[in-house]
Amino acid sequence: MRKKLIAGNWKMHKTVPEAQTLARQLADRLSDVNFADVAICPPFVDLYPVSLILREKESKIILGAQNMHPEPKGAFTGEISAEMLLSAGAKMVILGHSERRHIFGETDGFINAKVRRALEVGLVPILCIGETLEQRKAGKTNDVLREQITKSLAGVQIDDPHKIIIAYEPVWAIGTGVNATPEQAQEAHTFVRGLLAQLWGEQVAQEVRILYGGSVKPANAQSLLTQPDVDGALVGGASLDADSFEGIIRSGF
Ligand code: PEP
Repeated sequence: MRKKLIAGNWKMHKTVPEAQTLARQLADRLSDVNFADVAICPPFVDLYPVSLILREKESKIILGAQNMHPEPKGAFTGEISAEMLLSAGAKMVILGHSERRHIFGETDGFINAKVRRALEVGLVPILCIGETLEQRKAGKTNDVLREQITKSLAGVQIDDPHKIIIAYEPVWAIGTGVNATPEQAQEAHTFVRGLLAQLWGEQVAQEVRILYGGSVKPANAQSLLTQPDVDGALVGGASLDADSFEGIIRSGF
């Protein structure tokens, strides 16, 4: 049985005081939520201050980061290591987000190195994959997903399905207000689960959570999250406000 996970990607939003305020609101409002896991992924500088709030509130909300560098330490000005994330209280890390791929030129090979490093230190990677509108229109969605999964997960062995999370995020749906239909999401998730089965066997693939991301809002959350292979959501814009994030979590999936 896969427990749903609703994860908020705060992107480059929230100063330290703003992040602490939102974390406090969420910890208070969601203290009764046991039917799903909830995670928040603030910017790097907010991680430790937010971790203190979550600890103080004895909150079950899981802290995640939005990126990391694959090397353990060294001359990588401006970068953050997996160990640093752990020491700041993070348990998860978003890797391969389409904004990292498209704005910062991250390749599947580089993402693969990050996934391996995260697993090595015990951080749970949320590996993002997804096709552009052009690729979808050209009928290449499955080819793109296959390539991203195969290359980003090359050499990665998973025997415990809780150690990794996949997020299917069609690029055309991220921040656009145009979400994938529940049927499109279900179709892509089934395909991705099949790819995971080829890598790690059917039993593990059946237990790995595959999140949907792309313009998830309180109004569309229930229809997406009740699809059989949609195991949660990675939420950008709608996770920046306590009302809308809570609305998604309590949408009735
Ligand atoms: C995201 O950033 O991962 C995302 C899905 O953004 P949004 O919900 O704003 O489309």
